[in-house]
Amino acid sequence: MSNITVCARFRPLSSKERSNYGDSVCIHGIDNESFIFKDDKEENFKFGFDRVFYEKSEQAEVFEFLALPIIRDAFNGMNGTVITYGQTGAGKTFSMEGPSILACDEQKKGLLQRTVDELFDCMKSSDASVKFTIKLSMVEIYLEKVRDLFDLSRDNIQIKESRVQGILLSGVTEICVFNSAEALQSLASGISNRAVGETQMNMASSRSHCIYIFTVQQELTKEKRVKAGKLLLVDLAGSEKAEKTGAEGKVLEEAKTINKSLSALGNVINALTCGSPGKAFHIPYRDSKLTRILQDALGGNSRTALLCCCSPSTSNSAESLSTLRFGARAKHI
Ligand code: ADP
Ligand code: MG
Repeated sequence: MSNITVCARFRPLSSKERSNYGDSVCIHGIDNESFIFKDDKEENFKFGFDRVFYEKSEQAEVFEFLALPIIRDAFNGMNGTVITYGQTGAGKTFSMEGPSILACDEQKKGLLQRTVDELFDCMKSSDASVKFTIKLSMVEIYLEKVRDLFDLSRDNIQIKESRVQGILLSGVTEICVFNSAEALQSLASGISNRAVGETQMNMASSRSHCIYIFTVQQELTKEKRVKAGKLLLVDLAGSEKAEKTGAEGKVLEEAKTINKSLSALGNVINALTCGSPGKAFHIPYRDSKLTRILQDALGGNSRTALLCCCSPSTSNSAESLSTLRFGARAKHI
């Protein structure tokens, strides 16, 4: 019953890592599903994932493996989630947005640009009798508060559940997008609003979770029915353990909240992959806003993809190891 795909991605060494630590890389690839990880105490760990993307991997490969099957499902009326996880600087946003949401060359386009292109391609190749509506919302979760990134005045969005529509974000802005260019413009405005909000709150983007929600609604005029699928892309807050670095006050509060929501996510995924079918068991969706928003797009009939982003440098090996363990635990059956 595992509808979860877990992958690891290693970005190239940064120039800082290269100059400070030489070419010291803590991963030794075996094949495209497994590698040996050497920690700073020279201890070796072997990891296996559905797919491993090494430093030279292309954005297109990541998209095709992780997101494409989920987008296809959204067109069939199913929900799905693509999540990037990892410490700050590990490559989550690069995987999601590329170097820039609007100005970036074809090769570097991230999951978001490729998702948008695919959605409109699928739409164009569908039967002409189907009426499509593609809607986009963007929210950010910071200190367990959900903010609308298309309308910063809505800074405490409530999460509701409806029998028919599933999880709903009460009053959130939904933008109808009619082509790729419009969708990208909307994404860009949400991303720049995010930066504005962060400056107002004196917060780094790495301290909040960002959720992109695409709803694909199809009115099948011949069959007289409506089919809707929801696709969520999640750029998580940095997973680094700030508590250990002597953080205080607000920074400590941020760290604790992030830690709590990331463990809630891990627990939910774990409960979903470990549960025996047909048996009612508790899945702790309500333990965080993050898992609550993802509730109807994780598990059940939905498909989930988790991209564990890591630095390849020995200097970051402790955080990378913790990221890889999160991924391994998510996949554990
Ligand atoms: P995060 O969002 O996890 O904090 P970023 O995505 O912002 O990390 O990445 C940190 C830096 O590394 C950025 O300068 C980004 O351009 C670069 N980077 C990340 N992944 C890759 C990659 N696969 N190839 C090239 N550069 C990358
Ligand atoms: Mg980021």
